[in-house]
Amino acid sequence: MDSEKPNIMLVEDEIHLARGICFNLEEEGCRVSHFETGEKALAALEFEHFDLIILDVMLPGMDGFEACRAVRTLDARVPILMLTARSEDCDRVHGLENGADDYLTKPFNLEEFLLRVKGMLRRSSWYRPDPVEEAYHFGHNDVFLLSYRARTAQGEIDLTEMEVRVLSIFFQKEGQAIPRVELLQTVWGYTTDTETRTLDNFIVRLRRYFEPDPGKPIHFQTVRGVGYRFSRKG
Ligand code: CA
Repeated sequence: MDSEKPNIMLVEDEIHLARGICFNLEEEGCRVSHFETGEKALAALEFEHFDLIILDVMLPGMDGFEACRAVRTLDARVPILMLTARSEDCDRVHGLENGADDYLTKPFNLEEFLLRVKGMLRRSSWYRPDPVEEAYHFGHNDVFLLSYRARTAQGEIDLTEMEVRVLSIFFQKEGQAIPRVELLQTVWGYTTDTETRTLDNFIVRLRRYFEPDPGKPIHFQTVRGVGYRFSRKG
């Protein structure tokens, strides 16, 4: 096994689409393991590590949402990209609430798909947490970026890879209003200002973890017409 190649899990029951995705990702230098059901994918996750999971929502047997929740119990960190066939907004948000890190609606543009995958796989230096700082403290929270953990008022939680990336940029730019597009580009690798609920849903998640009252955020503030601002003091 070539350990340099990103190892991707694809869970997709449409064989033609799966073949196309596998072919294109392999062309891009990835290693892809394809599974047709969530059950088979979960069995494989017990003994193999993946760098990214691409998960279709509509699957025979266990659906993608269920599979996503189950994946999170086995691997709290791995980035998960959901493929949703339905265009209803609630469906996408449902995926993000179940632990996915981004979604793409079918039928999707291949170029957009590959950019998104690369964005999620990217290991760049900017979000590498400063190893000197063991815990980042704010409010009633201690965040341990290096170990993907946080102690909150509600107890200890595991953070996903993408949550650590978002938190890293917020901590680095504490007190500054960060434009939506900058967050989407830096964290997820979006190239255009694509209409997406991903970022807003992530903020909802972070507020739920870290805010004393998620409905009245003091740390993760909305900056109207711009994006978001993180404030350590609140
Ligand atoms: Ca399907």
